[in-house]
Amino acid sequence: MYPVTLGLSGRPVLVVGGGEVAERKIEGLLAEGARLTVIAPEVRPAIEDWAGKGTLQLRRRCHQAGDLAGFALVFAATDDRAANARVFAEARDAGIWVNVADDPELCTFHLPARVQRGALQIAIASEGGAPFVVRRLRQLLEARLRVEWSEWMDAAARFRRALRALGLPRDAAERRCDAFFAATVDGDRLRARVPGAAELEVWLAPHAERSPSPEAPAAERAALLPFAARARPGGGPPPALVSLVGAGPGDPGLITVRARQRLLSAQAVVYDRLAAPALPCDLGPEVELHCVGKEAGDHPVPQEEINALLVRLALSGKRTVRLKGGDPFVFGRGSEEAETLRRAGVPYEVVPGLTAGIGATACAGIPVTHRGEAVRVTLVTAHECRKGGGPQVRWDLLAQDPHATLVGYMGVSALPEVARKLIAAGMPSSTPAALVAQGTSAGQRTVVSTIGGLHAAGVAAGIRPPAVFVIGPTVRHAPSLDWFASRPLSGERLGLFGPAAELGPALDLAGAELVEVPRPLAPAARVVLGAAPLSGWLLRSAEEVRALEEERGLPGLAEVRAYCLGPAAAQSARALGWPDVAELPEGAGAEAVVAALTGLCRRPSQETMRSS
Ligand code: SAH
Repeated sequence: MYPVTLGLSGRPVLVVGGGEVAERKIEGLLAEGARLTVIAPEVRPAIEDWAGKGTLQLRRRCHQAGDLAGFALVFAATDDRAANARVFAEARDAGIWVNVADDPELCTFHLPARVQRGALQIAIASEGGAPFVVRRLRQLLEARLRVEWSEWMDAAARFRRALRALGLPRDAAERRCDAFFAATVDGDRLRARVPGAAELEVWLAPHAERSPSPEAPAAERAALLPFAARARPGGGPPPALVSLVGAGPGDPGLITVRARQRLLSAQAVVYDRLAAPALPCDLGPEVELHCVGKEAGDHPVPQEEINALLVRLALSGKRTVRLKGGDPFVFGRGSEEAETLRRAGVPYEVVPGLTAGIGATACAGIPVTHRGEAVRVTLVTAHECRKGGGPQVRWDLLAQDPHATLVGYMGVSALPEVARKLIAAGMPSSTPAALVAQGTSAGQRTVVSTIGGLHAAGVAAGIRPPAVFVIGPTVRHAPSLDWFASRPLSGERLGLFGPAAELGPALDLAGAELVEVPRPLAPAARVVLGAAPLSGWLLRSAEEVRALEEERGLPGLAEVRAYCLGPAAAQSARALGWPDVAELPEGAGAEAVVAALTGLCRRPSQETMRSS
């Protein structure tokens, strides 16, 4: 196989066939300016239209011997293999390039899969050996190459035209092209940045081959700094501040004031999956969002790549927030990121967050200290000790202290081993113990047992990460201090077009988790909506119903119950065929809405489970 790209403008091209496949080919060929003839007894309406407008010539009959004379390129796409084979034979004998759709044996040339971003085209071919690979690679590139490559390509072409006009020697011109490429393309992430006119001028100017100096104007410094630059002490523009921000344990209401302020003034946010629910839904669409956490079917981004990304964003001058679940320095590798930033000369700050071990326990009714019962709290990772090679947890020492609370992170699967070690070191197997999953969020679930029985109780209840285990005397308070699950709307995660007005505080007090999204939905709002299942959507007018209808393609939204305020909203939701519509009183105030919701809500089993 020898790939070529053909200039078809004004060239005579023949398509035999008038069906759907032929129509797609014709469309592509017309876009390239081919002089097109179509031979087919019957054609689809679009082809008819083109013929009517004189865009192509239509011969309304079957292919006959001799039809191919004078054509440079021939496509056959009839549903009759014998007819296709006759076209192929005639073309082959006459030395004309021919392609029969979906029939590799009847082709003297093949069409690669294409990914197109403006003038940029990427062709993918497999010599027919594994066509499934081609399709998947194309999908992958379609997803990875964002639209800015199209604009980037135009900028590159403008740059080259201007460069040619300078008439530089080849070497010097190449070096300027290198500078353009290095400053605008991030090869690791397949991202392109469209340079501004001022930057283009810098690459074209006589001094373009030297390094940026701190005194140079900002555009010049930006232009000379590679996109994927490493920090160069003393050189380049001042890097932007990176805030290592704790998002809290899950409830978006538990993010700090400063964290929210930093998020709202960020130009780029690099977030973990666990932190996604805390993203402000009203983050502007211009803010770069980078998800680096593990998602179903996806792999987590390696820590080195996250580090490099933070440095790169800072060096490109973007105010960046690194949003992490809980607290950044509690089992969050935030300190490793801080070290990287320090080494790269990037200024950073840490905005502490509420760690899961404190937040989830409080919401599960487990006081981590209690006068006369527990006077020490230990936060421990049950994960590290399993890997070996690293520092080991002294479970034997922890087992000795009856007046302490032990909170274990990343410990759901390690629990049997942890329990065995603690009991072997003398901890009574009757010591109260609990698992708290998705603590503080609408999805919170708590299982209370003893250290001896916790693993089995957790399995029976289907507890899944993220969860902390809590061991110690104060766990026994969980059933009586179960304030969290006793709120009327606990466990409800409700979507709502903002502003929520007086409904907001009322729903919050009643224990619902509110996802207040702007219209139109900003990218961050989509991330937040997708971060955990919604139990319902509150709609206050028929107009909001219509607005949501446009978004119901989003994963999980179509099945969500619609709580409609008033008959008009409810009627339009039913008219649209929504499966689960409930009507709430209109105009009776927030309290009435909460009361009605409380009566209607399906209560998931979020209450504390006790196991003996
Ligand atoms: N920096 C985070 C911890 C990250 S390690 C913090 O300070 O909270 C990830 C572990 O945190 C999970 O495996 C789980 O043990 C715990 N975790 C995080 N969020 C949680 C939540 N909402 N409920 C219970 N455990 C949680």
